[in-house]
Amino acid sequence: MSTLPPLPFESPATTEDHEVMREQLGREMRGVVSIARRCGCGRPAVVRTSPRLEDGTPFPTSLYLTLPWLTLEISRLEATGLMAELTERVEQEDELAASYRGAHERYLARRAEIGDAEEVRHVSAGGMPTRVKCLHALAGQALAEGPGINPIADEVLPTIDGVLPELVCRCDAGADTDDDTSTGTSTDTDTDADIDTGEVAR
Ligand SMILES: [Zn+2]
Repeated sequence: MSTLPPLPFESPATTEDHEVMREQLGREMRGVVSIARRCGCGRPAVVRTSPRLEDGTPFPTSLYLTLPWLTLEISRLEATGLMAELTERVEQEDELAASYRGAHERYLARRAEIGDAEEVRHVSAGGMPTRVKCLHALAGQALAEGPGINPIADEVLPTIDGVLPELVCRCDAGADTDDDTSTGTSTDTDTDADIDTGEVAR
């Protein structure tokens, strides 16, 4: 077993955090181990989760982005076709491929600190180590671990306002999903956000 440096921003998940995550996701966040990164306002941004949920389901995304404004920004980037471009670069650039593989290995090692689910033991997240399939997952790792771990997220995150060097709060202004009324049940989802940005009339 290797010993990793501690996650630099990790803190315990409080009862209030669970309530906030329920608002952020519109459902209960399962398998919560801790909060790996917080928004500038203190709300959870990246949640560290158990590799196996309470009901036994394997859950490979062990650094899970919950912050709505940032999720939306990343969905917008994904809608531009950026991932195909980045995957092509991982295929072609040896140095990038090597550090991306390093991010994959770090992901697995970090998960192994918490537990083991043999079904996903060799599966990290986001398409690692050879493809770029979900920038949300890669961003989750980079925000939790800090810079220098995930080379793809390290390229992408600086293009989003308010993410680096510190995560500045845009919870009340950044997103155009008007779900800040306290109705408790939100119908806004990631896919709704994708649709917002996907329509480019010709
Ligand atoms: Zn915030």
